[in-house]
Amino acid sequence: MVTTSPSVPKLGPRNTWQRNAIIHVLHDLETFSSAKDIYTELVRRDKKVGLTTVYRTLQSLSEMKAVDVLHMAGGETLYRRCDSDAHHHHLVCTRCGQAEEIEGGPVEQWAQSVAQQFGYQLTGHDAEIYGLCPSCQSDEHPDSPAA
Ligand SMILES: [Zn+2]
Ligand SMILES: [Zn+2]
Ligand SMILES: [Zn+2]
Repeated sequence: MVTTSPSVPKLGPRNTWQRNAIIHVLHDLETFSSAKDIYTELVRRDKKVGLTTVYRTLQSLSEMKAVDVLHMAGGETLYRRCDSDAHHHHLVCTRCGQAEEIEGGPVEQWAQSVAQQFGYQLTGHDAEIYGLCPSCQSDEHPDSPAA
């Protein structure tokens, strides 16, 4: 852990280049990636951004809804720059992190009606679908004829 002294300024204009570097990496990585993956990529690019700053920046980007956040079953949190501002869901490959932006379809109606049924005012919902993408499936079956 990095010990932060009280004199260290919070994420402000001073750190804008670090934030930009992180946004740039998110832009280039098309798959859902962990904070560590993003940090590793920054190191590879010779950008000296601390892991703590990466975590903090990702946190603030996700609060601004500038990135998509996935909470994996193993407790890992993954991030991806989102192509869409509109409400949507994801179909995510659990092996490589590739994702498709999908519509919620019946989930939207269902969330609304469940909330109503219990007298709740709906403030949001979460539903992601996980699987193996076509390319990871073919990795799983090396015997099957490859293109
Ligand atoms: Zn998305
Ligand atoms: Zn995959
Ligand atoms: Zn939805």
